[in-house]
Amino acid sequence: MVPDPLPTLQRVFGFPQFRGVQADVVDRVLNHRRTLAVMPTGAGKSLCYQLPAVMMEGTCVVVSPLIALMHDQLRAAEAVGIRAATLTSVDQNRGETLARFRAGELDLLYIAPERASTGHFRELLGEAKLSLFAIDEAHCVSEWGHDFRPDYRLLEPLMDAFPDVPRLALTATADAHTRADIVKQLGIPADGMIVSGFDRPNIRYSISPKANTSKQIADLIAATPGPGIVYAQTRAATEKLAEALAKTGRPTRAYHAGLDPHIRAKNQSDFVASEDMVICATVAFGMGIDKPDVRFVAHAGLPKSIEAYYQETGRAGRDGDPSVAHLFWGAEDFARARQRIGEVEPERQPGERQRLAALGALVETGGCRRRVLLKHFGEDLVDDCGNCDNCLGSPDAVDATEVARKFLSA
Ligand code: ADP
Ligand code: MG
Repeated sequence: MVPDPLPTLQRVFGFPQFRGVQADVVDRVLNHRRTLAVMPTGAGKSLCYQLPAVMMEGTCVVVSPLIALMHDQLRAAEAVGIRAATLTSVDQNRGETLARFRAGELDLLYIAPERASTGHFRELLGEAKLSLFAIDEAHCVSEWGHDFRPDYRLLEPLMDAFPDVPRLALTATADAHTRADIVKQLGIPADGMIVSGFDRPNIRYSISPKANTSKQIADLIAATPGPGIVYAQTRAATEKLAEALAKTGRPTRAYHAGLDPHIRAKNQSDFVASEDMVICATVAFGMGIDKPDVRFVAHAGLPKSIEAYYQETGRAGRDGDPSVAHLFWGAEDFARARQRIGEVEPERQPGERQRLAALGALVETGGCRRRVLLKHFGEDLVDDCGNCDNCLGSPDAVDATEVARKFLSA
């Protein structure tokens, strides 16, 4: 019998109850059963390892692909009194972290996947008790996933050196094929998968061909009060859009990896604090940002894949209130995407092509968008959603079909 996690959930995290499949995932982890949790963005995946990390003896090693993400998680964990540290190339306090780890004083140790490859690191892990391996963004382990990271392949051999330590892999975006690959790559039994529902009923999905994109987005902003994110494909485009959209009278900011780090951090924190700001960003923006009241997400151009679309639009409406996701696309976006796929390693091309085709089907459909989107994640929507442009009878839908079909089959 493992102890009841509910009191710890309430005392440490301050949440009255588990959400969705969290309770099932936590229960498996506490019972040392290897698990893959597939839960949408915002569902609360972090809690699924943080809570067991607090309850179990030893340190939970968390693998995360992005340093920025790790530092956000670290701050959040420390804010609720969890003993956590990161071990990355930019951390100054390495010696202190190692000492705390060896002394058994850490609940969570966040590491980048490339650490896993060194024998030195394996030795280090042997020097203290481990409670759990948590692999965040686990789709990175699969060539079928949308964001393959070769270093993730080194995790299984590392974990194999500690066979008694349970494993929890987490991802928001995995189709059936990718999920099957993740469990295989990470040594998780095929029946160790917990998949939660993907529908975000409060998000209204709309998709239109580009006409005059900044005007289209300005109209969207005028019709949608509250904070919003506009995704653009290049750094220059984010700055240009931020400038153009400032004319709407809403505060606007740009966000991309090329900005001075202080300005970038300030734009991000201003956005998080704001009730009406529009942030024009590359896809570098959003991972790990906890802002529940984002009222719209606009795409000024096609996202990288249907998984990326789901993840990026999923940043709208985490509070459950009505929100809007509006994608503006051009035929040239499909042409460019096809070209990009031609340039990736041959093994990855089938997966990429399938994801682009799924995105094409979503753009092209004259039927319920939500049905097409959920279908990709293996869910069948029985009734039309009544909350997408097609269900609501948007005039844009018809001409989109022709253009998209032409460019997908070209
Ligand atoms: P994910 O990694 O799945 O995208 P996060 O772990 O970042 O999601 O959590 C998203 C938000 O949900 C966070 O603000 C977190 O504090 C909150 N959250 C997690 N679990 C619960 C819960 N049981 N009740 C209420 N809020 C929760
Ligand atoms: Mg997460």
